[in-house]
Amino acid sequence: MSSNQWKFDNTYLALPDDLYTREQLNPVSKPKIVAKNTQLADELGLDISIFESAQLFGGNSLPEGAEPIAQAYAGHQFGQFSMLGDGRVLLLGEHITPHGKRYDIQLKGSGRTPYSRMGDGRSPLGPMLREYIISEAMHALAIPSTRSLAVTATGDQVRRETSMLGGILTRVAASHIRVGTFEYAARLEDDTIIRKLADYTINRHYPQSNNKDNKYLALLDKVIDVQASLIAKWQAVGFIHGVMNTDNMTISGETIDYGPCAFMDSFNPATVFSSIDVQGRYQFQNQPGIGLWNLSRFAETLISLIDSDEEKAISLAKGSLKQYETCYISYYLDYMAQKLGIHERQENDDQLMIDFLNLLELHELDYTATFRLLSENKVEQMTIRNEETFTNWYQRWQKRIRTEDQPYQLMKSVNPVVIPRNHLVEEALKEATDDDDYTKFNKLLKVVTDPYNESHAEKYMCGPDPSQQVLQTFCGT
Ligand code: AMP
Ligand code: MG
Ligand code: MG
Repeated sequence: MSSNQWKFDNTYLALPDDLYTREQLNPVSKPKIVAKNTQLADELGLDISIFESAQLFGGNSLPEGAEPIAQAYAGHQFGQFSMLGDGRVLLLGEHITPHGKRYDIQLKGSGRTPYSRMGDGRSPLGPMLREYIISEAMHALAIPSTRSLAVTATGDQVRRETSMLGGILTRVAASHIRVGTFEYAARLEDDTIIRKLADYTINRHYPQSNNKDNKYLALLDKVIDVQASLIAKWQAVGFIHGVMNTDNMTISGETIDYGPCAFMDSFNPATVFSSIDVQGRYQFQNQPGIGLWNLSRFAETLISLIDSDEEKAISLAKGSLKQYETCYISYYLDYMAQKLGIHERQENDDQLMIDFLNLLELHELDYTATFRLLSENKVEQMTIRNEETFTNWYQRWQKRIRTEDQPYQLMKSVNPVVIPRNHLVEEALKEATDDDDYTKFNKLLKVVTDPYNESHAEKYMCGPDPSQQVLQTFCGT
């Protein structure tokens, strides 16, 4: 394979080596690429000939310029602190696109590292295909996300409850710096390390912060802002991340770590899918609050940098964290207003939106399908069309959008026709992993990466029948 289209520039290696470990490859038996993202390759300035050989995507050979490392990070997992790190990931390096954009290129499922603890460093194929399809759907829905360049079947078995074929995902991200990366650095009790990490992060993601009086406080403000916007987008689309641990929250504001995540079918704020989330800590309606909890852990790591006077630093950080709620609510209401065809929010719009969500919940209506029916002005197809509470609401709403310019056009551009619904994802993954047949997977991928197109077949638009309903999702480690 020609590797000269890769352009690596591995700046993370200039950070103190406490923050990572240099790694070797852990080859696999018989790598075979089963999903390739030619469009993403193109965006990265890579010729599709990179997919001619599976050696690189299986972790059997390195592209020119790659210098693999496993990154160290910590994390609050369901509230409990742990020192972690890339236990099943290799960061190959940072690729620079022809437009000068920098992306981390990672292999996930690539074997053991010093941070693997009891794990085998591998992943079954199914969860890697799941991440590929959902992350690419998120991107198509204009929700910031890590991307997926390829999935490779390794030819080796991984042992879980049963023996399964292994898989490796090639993940592409603005960076893999997490809240947990800062927590790890802060625990090292060497202020120079956290300072270097913060400076590096500012230069890589938020260079404008360098011009502010207090650049570390500016970094905190930026991360608060991007996370508030991200989580508001999740709430508006009905996405449940499932494991919002601090190690799964990026500083860049991209969604990361597609484990037990899922899109909600019928609207219920208490929805939980993850089999391990027994307390419902990460249920749908808790996500915005968990965002703040995680950002508070981030703020704690920056205290010594924000001001040498600790009390003053804490007070400044608290002031920033206080902005989160206002910021989140404002993003959320803006996104929800757009879903109802409203360009600029007015005084009573919030109530209009809340009343509609209450109707959805009360009547257990499908979240995505209902917003889309409204957008296409197909009220006659709605099961609640004759309910008085709905008809009253509908009249109020009609009156409101009369003053909007092309409200239905706006609605159609923000209310997806299709989302990667659990039952469809599971069905496609089963066929792929059990029968090595990617027909359903490829079809579903095509549909969910074109989410506003009305010409998709009916089955992609509807919520599941009771018999198709998926009630639980699993981490896929
Ligand atoms: P996650 O639940 O995917 O966010 O992972 C939490 C931590 O467990 C991270 O440090 C992962 O690298 C690690 N981990 C997850 N699966 C494995 C595995 N199969 N082998 C080694 N480490 C793993
Ligand atoms: Mg993780
Ligand atoms: Mg995970």
